Amino acid sequence: MSPVRAATNDALLEIEDLRLHFPIKAGLLKKTVAHVKAVDGVSFSVYPGETVGLVGESGSGKTTIGRCIVRLYKPTTGSIGFRTAQGVVDIAQLDKRALQPIRRDIQMLFQDPNSSLNARMRVGDIIAEPLEIHAIGTRDERRSRVEDLLEQVGLGAEMYNRFPHQLSGGQRQRVGVARALSIEPRLVICDEPVSALDVSVQAQVLNLLSDLQGELGLTYVFIAHDLSVVEYISDRVMVMYLGKLMETAPTKRIFERPTHPYTEALLNSIPKRVRGGHRKRFVLTGDIPSPVNPPSGCVFHTRCQYVKDICRTETPALRPLPDDPETSVACHLAEEVALEPYYTAEERRDLESDRA
Ligand code: SF4
Repeated sequence: MSPVRAATNDALLEIEDLRLHFPIKAGLLKKTVAHVKAVDGVSFSVYPGETVGLVGESGSGKTTIGRCIVRLYKPTTGSIGFRTAQGVVDIAQLDKRALQPIRRDIQMLFQDPNSSLNARMRVGDIIAEPLEIHAIGTRDERRSRVEDLLEQVGLGAEMYNRFPHQLSGGQRQRVGVARALSIEPRLVICDEPVSALDVSVQAQVLNLLSDLQGELGLTYVFIAHDLSVVEYISDRVMVMYLGKLMETAPTKRIFERPTHPYTEALLNSIPKRVRGGHRKRFVLTGDIPSPVNPPSGCVFHTRCQYVKDICRTETPALRPLPDDPETSVACHLAEEVALEPYYTAEERRDLESDRA
């Protein structure tokens, strides 16, 4: 893809065959002896106003994709098309100068509010920093904008002069949200934004992100290791394993009809929340294999309970299901094995009526 090309569809973000292979150097001459295949041929699109959940265990490559999108990492190959007023720009190809205007449109919300906020800066200055970097507004206008943002994220303007250590974990993450939104981005990469918070506070921050999306028309890529977190906030879910996409589907479908054995295993790790919720459990054992030397064939075959001979030798392509083109899966046996859902349709109805 050239750095700028004509728009081909309505996607805000269009990733094609993205790879990031980190070299491993050794010896006196620091020769490259191997590569860590952190992301290995991933393609997907994100549409304006939606939330796409990117889920997988630690080491699956989900955070690396987020960092490629904001260009903290430069991909090895592949393209990251981002729609601008001038057309679709390939973020992967841009130099530092050309990236500057794009950085206004794409912000990242980090996992740990303790380490992502400068402890020596006051809350107001932390939120105003991106406005200063991009030379937006006068000093007074920036102050007024920060006070508005503090109200918007439910903190109140009186927090302006506090330091991060004077806030709770949930309040610190609200500061992180205000900072990310200060320059009015169109796309926010949320990198496990609630995983360092208590469960009760997690719900508050997820509610805040959901409300702000409605108010401001934001688009989110929401990275998490836990499917239960993305269920609440995502329209679609993409399940990653060892640098590759295993399954992509609407969120409801993932919970009611998983198609990939790895998705089933992730669902099995979530405590069941419906009435009478007792079921047989398959617990995923062992660690994720090394991305330096991933397994042959299907990369999940060393941990899959349904593995057959073909899985050890032939790599399954990510392909849409004939009966449901919104769902794509990388499994040879997707049409053969019946996987256990998290909810039956009836259980979901019960849960929704309990919530109402
Ligand atoms: Fe399991 Fe084979 Fe499907 Fe891979 S291709 S997920 S090993 S059944």
